[in-house]
Amino acid sequence: MAGLELSSVTKSFGQVDVIHGIDLKINDGEFIVFVGPSGCGKSTLLRLVSGLEETTSGTLSIGGEDVTHVEPADRGVAMVFQSYALYPHMTVYDNMAFGLKMTGHPKADIKRRVDRAAEILELTPLLDRKPKAMSGGQRQRVAIGRAIVREPKVFLFDEPLSNLDAELRVQMRLQIAKLHRDLGTTMIYVTHDQTEAMTLADRIVVLRSGRLEQFGSPIALYDDPDNAFVAGFIGSPRMNFLRGVVEDAGMTADGGTRTATVRIPDLSNLSLSVPVRGDVPAKGTTVDVGIRPEHFVGSDDSATQYTGVANMVEQLGGVSYLYLGVGSGGQLTVEQKGHAMTTDGEQATVGIDGSRAMLFTTDGARV
Ligand code: ADP
Ligand code: MG
Repeated sequence: MAGLELSSVTKSFGQVDVIHGIDLKINDGEFIVFVGPSGCGKSTLLRLVSGLEETTSGTLSIGGEDVTHVEPADRGVAMVFQSYALYPHMTVYDNMAFGLKMTGHPKADIKRRVDRAAEILELTPLLDRKPKAMSGGQRQRVAIGRAIVREPKVFLFDEPLSNLDAELRVQMRLQIAKLHRDLGTTMIYVTHDQTEAMTLADRIVVLRSGRLEQFGSPIALYDDPDNAFVAGFIGSPRMNFLRGVVEDAGMTADGGTRTATVRIPDLSNLSLSVPVRGDVPAKGTTVDVGIRPEHFVGSDDSATQYTGVANMVEQLGGVSYLYLGVGSGGQLTVEQKGHAMTTDGEQATVGIDGSRAMLFTTDGARV
């Protein structure tokens, strides 16, 4: 088991800078998720940790040991990829044992490790099967088993569930969470899926264009994002962003938090009192107001209200989504519990709780 430390790590491919100076301290036993949109450098960063790619500059240590220039095989990491890459002509047992055989491990030791991995992954009854006689989920478990038998200090996963259908993905996600609980080994997991990130991670690294946008617990990122990018990426459906103009400064009812009164032209010039982290921007400053779809309240509450036409209503049974038109022609995603009472093209009135809204500069920095 081991913690990791990345210090000013950069990576360029020729003239193209892909990773721009990442600093990161990961504790022993943590489950860390790298999340971000496609092409932001998640896989590259993971491959730098594994040693499959060499850093352009900066240092990397695993378990307190500088491994910046250490061969992948000697770093004590094991990687699981999206493609299972199993040997089709070998049984499950031999697929898991292969790497250890190649490095000359004693037969009894190999058997002990494979049997234990099979037990953890509930593959014991399948040890004599060949991959073609197995489901996608079972094959991915064999690929994970191949990593477990190496008894690594750190597990590295690169979008391991992306090839599976939605139902299997949920099952495997639970299995990977359980695996982490059982083994207690440090894990780094790459995904573009914010739900996987939220459900698996102790702490999430949000990446954008090779830069670290925020590093924190799932709930910290959701409740207190540092910028509009993180606020928009974490949470589903995505946060609504609306242009506003600062009109006044104030305090919350308990006097504990500063607030800005912001007028929102797109919402019929409605004014919201929004908490701010630091100083209230000067009167007249243009800002962006972020409101999560789940933070609208009933229209009969004494909250600030907005009435708009529902361009579209999606009924999912347990929840409904209203897509309410706003002034400039954009729309607001509103989540309602249970069945929607509104149908397409009808007017709907929703309540907005300003205390749950967030403020950003027009460059996306949190105010
Ligand atoms: P992600 O995993 O977040 O989707 P990647 O780490 O695979 O992103 O890629 C990040 C960026 O680096 C992309 O723009 C990609 O085209 C580029 N890239 C990755 N590998 C190479 C390479 N071997 N040569 C040149 N560019 C690369
Ligand atoms: Mg990738």
